[in-house]
Amino acid sequence: MEKLLQQNVDITHLSNFKTKAKTKYYYEINHIEDVFHMKDIIAFSKENNLKLLFIWGGTNLLFAFDIFEWIVIKNNLKWFAYDRVKNILEVYSSESIWYIAEKLENDYGQKLWHRFIGLPGSIGGAVFWNAGCFGLETQNNFLEAEVYNLESGKIEKLNKIESAFWYRNSIFKQTEKYFIIKVKFDLSFLEEKYSSDVDNIQFRKEIQPSGNSCGSFFKNHSKEYSAGKLIEEVGLKWYVHNTAFFSEKHANFLMTQVDNWDYRDLLFLIDLAKKKVHDRFWIELQAEVRIIQN
Ligand SMILES: Cc1cc2nc3c(=O)[nH]c(=O)nc-3n(C[C@H](O)[C@H](O)[C@H](O)COP(=O)(O)OP(=O)(O)OC[C@H]3O[C@@H](n4cnc5c(N)ncnc54)[C@H](O)[C@@H]3O)c2cc1C
Repeated sequence: MEKLLQQNVDITHLSNFKTKAKTKYYYEINHIEDVFHMKDIIAFSKENNLKLLFIWGGTNLLFAFDIFEWIVIKNNLKWFAYDRVKNILEVYSSESIWYIAEKLENDYGQKLWHRFIGLPGSIGGAVFWNAGCFGLETQNNFLEAEVYNLESGKIEKLNKIESAFWYRNSIFKQTEKYFIIKVKFDLSFLEEKYSSDVDNIQFRKEIQPSGNSCGSFFKNHSKEYSAGKLIEEVGLKWYVHNTAFFSEKHANFLMTQVDNWDYRDLLFLIDLAKKKVHDRFWIELQAEVRIIQN
């Protein structure tokens, strides 16, 4: 097992907050053959009571630990093909969704995913939580996913119904028993939650602060009471605690100023915002970003 798993690896760069973090065990999937070693890793994890965490870019992860006691599995599976006659996109899970959306547009004149230009994260991450923006969701043109089932140790295919997508959720997120290897999308038709003619690239430039963040930190409570508005109302917009702060540009963007800093500063601000919003509005703010603890 020592041959397969690296030990005490620095994973600071694997969360977009860039807080200082290490993992006790680390494995990289660089080729499809590496997926087959998962059987041994799963056996090891069961023997030692360790959970697994798959990561691509960590654009939705806050590491709330100094040393992670579980096994981090970093996905690097890249390759895609687009059939311009049938409009079928076949793509490995570690390709960036933003990059693929740009490639489709620039190289194939396929503009259906234009709204995903500017959306951080991988295809796997986007399918995992059904990422979406400006009315377009990952599930809309989803056909099927090829996955490694951690329980059966077999490669399986899940269609759209079996993938059970709903708002920022799916069977992958709900069960955490699949590693998403490859996904097929049918881009021959437009399906969307709602139509939008927003200039997504300009919009992101204007409202999104650049720097270390995972995008919107809390879920919106309602249209009237967005998380950003609530945080602003309780006076936390541009509130700084050591090197962590709520952005001046967008109050729901929790950020860090310096790489390699302490996650405790972020947890302090999360608790503070929750408490202040609860005390004033009786609303429980819920994190949209996944907080990883031992
Ligand atoms: C500036 C900014 C703006 C954003 N705007 C939006 C937005 O408009 N809309 C939106 O929906 N999101 C938005 N996000 C959030 C982010 O884009 C998504 O959460 C992204 O889909 C996560 O992808 P990732 O590959 O980085 O996943 P990670 O953060 O690495 O992982 C997230 C989760 O997915 C799981 N996962 C990842 N890959 C796999 C795989 N291959 N198999 C199984 N599980 C896997 C991980 O285990 C983890 O639980 C934004 C983030 C940032 C930083």
